[in-house]
Amino acid sequence: MNRPPAPAPLRPSSGQSKPQPSSTRPQSSLARPQSGSARPGKTSQPNRGQRNRGRGQHDHGRRGKRFNPITQASPVPLPPKPDALRVYALGGLEEVGRNCTVVEMGDDIVIIDMGLMFPEEGMPGIDYIIPDISCLRGKEKNIRGVIITHGHYDHIGAIPHLMPRLGWPVIYTAPLSAGIIRKRQEEYGNLQQLKIQVVKRADEKIRLGKNFVFEPFHVNHNITDAFGAAIHTPYGSVIATGDFKFDLDPIPPDLPADPMRLVAFGERGVLLLMADSTSASLPGRQISESVVSEELYGIVSKHNGRIIVGTFSSLLTRVQQLLSIAEKTNRKVLLLGRSMQSNVEIAHQLGYMKFRPGTIIDEEDLKRTDPSRLIIVCTGAQGEKNAALMRIANREHRTVQIEEGDMIIFSSSVIPGNERTVQSLKDTLIRQGAKVVHYANMDVHAGGHAKQEELKEMIKLTKPRYYVPVHGNLFLRYDNANLAEEVGITRQNIFLPDNGQIIEIDANGGKLLPEKYPIEYIMVDGLGVGDVSHIVLRDRLQLAADGMFVIIFTLERDTGRLIGSPDIISRGFVYIKEARELVEKARAKVKKILHDSDRRSPTFEEYTKNKIRDDIGQFLWSATKRRPMVLPVIIEV
Ligand SMILES: [Zn+2]
Repeated sequence: MNRPPAPAPLRPSSGQSKPQPSSTRPQSSLARPQSGSARPGKTSQPNRGQRNRGRGQHDHGRRGKRFNPITQASPVPLPPKPDALRVYALGGLEEVGRNCTVVEMGDDIVIIDMGLMFPEEGMPGIDYIIPDISCLRGKEKNIRGVIITHGHYDHIGAIPHLMPRLGWPVIYTAPLSAGIIRKRQEEYGNLQQLKIQVVKRADEKIRLGKNFVFEPFHVNHNITDAFGAAIHTPYGSVIATGDFKFDLDPIPPDLPADPMRLVAFGERGVLLLMADSTSASLPGRQISESVVSEELYGIVSKHNGRIIVGTFSSLLTRVQQLLSIAEKTNRKVLLLGRSMQSNVEIAHQLGYMKFRPGTIIDEEDLKRTDPSRLIIVCTGAQGEKNAALMRIANREHRTVQIEEGDMIIFSSSVIPGNERTVQSLKDTLIRQGAKVVHYANMDVHAGGHAKQEELKEMIKLTKPRYYVPVHGNLFLRYDNANLAEEVGITRQNIFLPDNGQIIEIDANGGKLLPEKYPIEYIMVDGLGVGDVSHIVLRDRLQLAADGMFVIIFTLERDTGRLIGSPDIISRGFVYIKEARELVEKARAKVKKILHDSDRRSPTFEEYTKNKIRDDIGQFLWSATKRRPMVLPVIIEV
């Protein structure tokens, strides 16, 4: 995650490859991740999904009642009209994460957020996915600023990768977000090139080019210093809520969001509101952070043993709550997880977190601390492989092991897709004698995102002309769109674009253009950005699904004569000792192919390899109904 980036050319993770693997097996396991999640396939299918995008998918088939319009979009957008305002996303509309939105008019471009997304099933070995900025190529000089609404990775994570390619435009963000961005950039180098203008007051007005004035406004979220962005344009204000919720009783120093600011925007004319869809499917409101505090206090003060809390490293509000509770109940706090420790350090330095010296202890102090006087706050509540809680549960942690009577609090929601991992993590903990509390059985977590009533409130306060649900897959945005309709926005004025699809607004009003920018999945794998192509991913999936079958044979250089017998290595396919007969048959087939092929032909090597790949692949398939990767290796001596 934090490995420095290579100066690799940024290019789409694929583009030319065929959408499906060449496997002839119709129900290939390779097809599963692609058709199932549409992810790896996605990068190479600019027209992906069009067949599904027909009428009826979004409105149960009521003609003319569909949200505005979800039609086929051609991949080549026209250049913008000089007097038109364009809004489009480079990520974040077909997934949860990698949020990145562009607002463009004339020669002015403003980017809102630059996040990453964690990989999904079917992307083995990928660290994360970032927005596709290729449509900004050639327009770098027009970028007037990058507004970062808050310090979560799904909003800042792509900065180290994308900034160098955009010519280091100025970032406008709040102090804590700036601290987290700088800290992360340190690990990638180039810190001195990062230009950040810290926005100190949440009502500052900053001119960005000829056409835009940016004005942040404070919102509640589960990290301090989150703001929404109002971009005032000649046609009215474009408002991006960022991640937000309304909390009337947040944890100090956070304050409630000011509804009067939103009303004031509404009175001046909100052209377009882009609102957070993450929790748009959930009725009601988020519980207040102060309710969470009370619940956590109740649990901690009644429990007579060690407390271990699993949460997100960036959920600094929660960490603050636990620190305050520890001080009230005379406990010490051990923070496990490097990212959590560094976030707390930054927030503390900036005055966003308050705790007494000595409240936080080191791992070395652990032996001297009575377990009943201890709260361990750690990362890994999502079951992340290498995070602290996972290592503790698996008894792989250096200093902390689960003991009978430990109380484990999962103070976080479960990110969709992680359900099974989190369930088995809980099982593992319970088996070792721990008590487990989570948000479903107690109020130990409040989400950071507006639920339905809060979204409706946002719309009522700002009174936008156009409404664009953002952040999340279509089904989430669709739920959000329905809420907007409920509070009086007409369907024609609600847009559900895909990534890269352009909303264009001019004096005649707004519409979703039929053209779109192609937005690929840019995959970051270790040091490489965008260099893991669809083909690499396909190979990984094939290896994972069916293993490999390597055939090594040695030929005499001059005569092309086979020396000895071909060596066969199998990994993840069959255990060779138990499949001796199969291996022998394969070996005989290889010999026969070599015997039959013309060694004087200039294409001998290529022909032989292909023939072996095809014939042995076919043989193994008919014998085992598995399709391992067949790798012929020729050694000439
Ligand atoms: Zn967030």
